Amino acid sequence: FGDAAQKVDYVFKVVLIGDSAVGKSQILARFARNEFSLDSKATIGVEFQTRTLVIQHKSVKAQIWDTAGQERYRAVTSAYYRGAVGAMLVYDITKRQTFDHIPRWLEELRAHADKNIVIILIGNKTDLEDQRAVPTEDAKEFAQKEGLFFLETSALNATNVETAFLTVLTEIFNIVS
Ligand code: GDP
Ligand code: MG
Repeated sequence: FGDAAQKVDYVFKVVLIGDSAVGKSQILARFARNEFSLDSKATIGVEFQTRTLVIQHKSVKAQIWDTAGQERYRAVTSAYYRGAVGAMLVYDITKRQTFDHIPRWLEELRAHADKNIVIILIGNKTDLEDQRAVPTEDAKEFAQKEGLFFLETSALNATNVETAFLTVLTEIFNIVS
């Protein structure tokens, strides 16, 4: 974890989007610092975090952008999307509304971002399986229809967080290299 002093072959900007409180900041904290907090404050200030990893013998610096509490519709500005080569579209599996808003986020993304952007749909908080409100099948079907990667994660117990980032970063790597 962290950025070792090493030569960087690629820098990939990836943006996190989705409704407030779905776990975007905790997914990022888990990926960038292997941390998790149950009472995470609304994101203030910090624009992005980085982690450098090796993909197919190349050093890839992932620069992951987190919305600074601007999750209201249309509040995320085009500057946020500028230069992004990947996007993680996050909903909370225990809150149906956050999944129902995904088409809206996708529309925003497609309006502002590069048309070749790699997108993964993420259903977070799988540790709360007993409160599940979004069937895996519904999300899988939506992702297939829209041509998105799809994974369910838990930032709390770290399930699939690494895999989700690696899926996006490897796909981007394969496109640009
Ligand atoms: P954001 O607004 O999308 O950035 O959401 P946060 O990352 O701030 O998380 C919102 C709340 O959900 C916080 O209380 C987190 O601790 C909690 N949370 C985030 N991810 C998970 C998870 O995977 N499981 C559980 N149980 N809670 C989570
Ligand atoms: Mg946040």
